[in-house]
Amino acid sequence: MIEAGVDRHVVIVGASLAGTRTAQNLRTLGHTGPITLIGAESEMPYDRPPLSKDLLRSDWSTEAVESFRLLTPAELDELDLDLRLGMAATGLDTDTRRVSLADGTTVAYDVLVIATGAAARPSPWSPPSGVLQLRTLDDSRAIATSLTAGERVVVVGGGFIGTEIAAAAIGFGCEVTVVDPVPEPMTRIVGSEIASSLVDLHRENGAQTRFGVGVVDIRGEAGDLTVVLDDGTELAASVAVVGIGSIAATDWLTGAGLTLENGVVTDERLRAVGADDVYAIGDVARWPHAGRGLIRAEHWTNASDQARFVAAAIAQGQDAPFASSDYVWSDQYDWKIHTVGYRDPAGTSVIVGDLAAEGRIAVVHADASGEACGAVTVNWVRALNQIRRLLLSGGDAQSIADQLAQLTQRAA
Ligand SMILES: Cc1cc2nc3c(=O)[nH]c(=O)nc-3n(C[C@H](O)[C@H](O)[C@H](O)COP(=O)(O)OP(=O)(O)OC[C@H]3O[C@@H](n4cnc5c(N)ncnc54)[C@H](O)[C@@H]3O)c2cc1C
Repeated sequence: MIEAGVDRHVVIVGASLAGTRTAQNLRTLGHTGPITLIGAESEMPYDRPPLSKDLLRSDWSTEAVESFRLLTPAELDELDLDLRLGMAATGLDTDTRRVSLADGTTVAYDVLVIATGAAARPSPWSPPSGVLQLRTLDDSRAIATSLTAGERVVVVGGGFIGTEIAAAAIGFGCEVTVVDPVPEPMTRIVGSEIASSLVDLHRENGAQTRFGVGVVDIRGEAGDLTVVLDDGTELAASVAVVGIGSIAATDWLTGAGLTLENGVVTDERLRAVGADDVYAIGDVARWPHAGRGLIRAEHWTNASDQARFVAAAIAQGQDAPFASSDYVWSDQYDWKIHTVGYRDPAGTSVIVGDLAAEGRIAVVHADASGEACGAVTVNWVRALNQIRRLLLSGGDAQSIADQLAQLTQRAA
């Protein structure tokens, strides 16, 4: 193990949110040593949430695309990085502390930060054309190009990304069907209290839903696809967008001696198990969450929080367990959904507000002992901020709900 210090050579593999934010935080915290940032994509680093929201719906002008870059040219200059884009890491030797690159060269490190994120789980159905997936800027551009008014679009997967694409496709005037084998797919994200209203929201906006039914095949080609469901139904579509989760990008680490189990397994300080001076952060990391055990949290704020945390460990020797802010958002039609903390499947929930009557709601989750552990809000940012504060000081879900109810009464 090398002593903490600001002059070590930090190599960051993965030049997206977690990677660029690590570099930025290192410089902000006074790191003066060399930083090498290696990214497989040739694109200048960009943000992913807009790919299924604002950018997908935009005019794709240069201005629109550039507004979602993670760094401006001036910010990049200031960071004084050795930036290697379009260059995948292909291997890691933790004994000699070297990362191998696709061009056959190696890069030595004092500290390595693994931030290679995840890739879309490949579609099991691959007709010659017409099946699209979403993870990168090019993917989003390809989907936007395919979504023309009147076209029939089948979205396979009713998670956040699938439903955001469905909402965008409806906006383009497409005929949209969302298919998912789970009867109420959003339940796993927003809980049952809001999931059924979310399904209604999609239906009210014109999307067809086929939930509780799986896809067994997609055949044909772009413009003339047949999506076959496991109840025998056949859906005709011009295009199918398959959003069935992601896979951590760890192939390049095979044989490196790290613990790879649905991601790079880390300790509570985000240090990769099995190597010294190697951290894993963002979507690729599987780390011990205080309330939920080992998890891979595929959310923007988590990647950003972990980048800040690891930069402080490297530059300042910060020595504390990582605590996630557990914050996630999604935009669907005119709904702004926010979740904070987590939902314990063995726990209970208390509802404040009324979506139908007031257009907003907060659901506060308790764990099995009754202690508040998280919440989901729709169109109610003030409540969300209040809940975030209250969760930090602890307490039971009912008392948090009571305080929210007072907030409502005061506002009335
Ligand atoms: C369409 C979409 C919408 C989203 N919307 C939301 C949202 O509304 N709210 C929210 O909280 N989160 C959202 N997310 C999740 C959020 O964007 C991710 O959590 C975040 O991007 C994770 O950042 P990361 O840097 O860890 O990984 P990634 O963003 O996946 O970046 C990893 C980078 O590493 C590169 N890489 C991979 N392998 C190698 C290699 N061997 N060598 C070099 N480079 C490599 C990849 O090319 C990629 O550029 C969304 C994600 C997507 C895809």
